[in-house]
Amino acid sequence: MDVNANFFCKSMPKVELHAHLSGSFSKETCQRLLQKYNKENPTEKLSLGNYGNCRSLDDANQTIGLCHKLTNSLESIYTSTCDVIKEYAADNVKYLELRSRPRALAGKFTRRQYIEAILAAVDACVQEGVDIDVKYLLSIDRAEDISVAQESIQLARELLLSHHSIVGMDLSGNPKTGDARVFIPLLQEGRKVGLKLAFHAAEFPGKNPETKALIEMRPDRLGQAVYVEPEMGGTLELTSMVENYKIPIEYSLTANMRTGAVPSIGAHPFWHWYSKNHPCILTCDGKGIMNTSLTNEFLLAARSFQLSSTQVWDLSQKAINYIFADDETKAKLHSKWRMWQAHEAPSFTNFLDQD
Ligand SMILES: [Zn+2]
Repeated sequence: MDVNANFFCKSMPKVELHAHLSGSFSKETCQRLLQKYNKENPTEKLSLGNYGNCRSLDDANQTIGLCHKLTNSLESIYTSTCDVIKEYAADNVKYLELRSRPRALAGKFTRRQYIEAILAAVDACVQEGVDIDVKYLLSIDRAEDISVAQESIQLARELLLSHHSIVGMDLSGNPKTGDARVFIPLLQEGRKVGLKLAFHAAEFPGKNPETKALIEMRPDRLGQAVYVEPEMGGTLELTSMVENYKIPIEYSLTANMRTGAVPSIGAHPFWHWYSKNHPCILTCDGKGIMNTSLTNEFLLAARSFQLSSTQVWDLSQKAINYIFADDETKAKLHSKWRMWQAHEAPSFTNFLDQD
């Protein structure tokens, strides 16, 4: 199965809807940034340590902290964003939604300049003809002060007028920190200015009232919603809300295991939702810090849940329906997927039976 499945998943067109910019830096990008950083700060001597080998949520957060430290100039934000976009394109990802919390660094860049550096990288890749459509989701970090979120919403409101790549907002940050409910009025404001909403919710147990309040907002997508069903520590009420509202769920199988959200792939709720025909989307979360790729996530799902090549293609194609870009973009992507299926897809129909 592996050779065929690998070839199939790699060459298949894909959409990535849950990619945190800083978590997506490849080891090569980080090595380049690190060299520059250490040259400029000879007394610090930072190292990449176990980069790409996260073993817990704390580990992941620590590595993201390092990535933030290494992107300490507009140039480094710009170049590393270009790298991420090109690496996704090389994995045959045709549409990518990058999410990032607008950062500011005193004396170096403001939040507005941070977002503009990302958008400039997106534009540069278009100019270069990189075969991928890229959009930006502005992240609200639940661990930060609400005034930062307020500033971010204001920036989104202003930048939306000239940058069509901004399509949504993400609620993220350490799920063990704070209460996301305080951000609800701001997220509602974001929706009013035309932004779609993707929330990280039910990532860890013990957050049911918070999860309920977030789901009640009927977000356009949920991220890593692992603890929804009663057997996972959620509730029947949460389960029926997600089902009835048909809220698509973004799952990052590798990340969910590495951060300890689930103990093993067998314990992952993907199958529960997928087998009920609920919209499920495979994503990387942070391909760099999790040492994965979207191809790898499809392979993992195929192997773990015995998916046929038709089911894998279907999973990839259906994700187009849940992107935050407009209907015209969706139609273009659907046509690309159909072309691939008709003319380029390997001729076998079920790689489970193949060697
Ligand atoms: Zn995430």
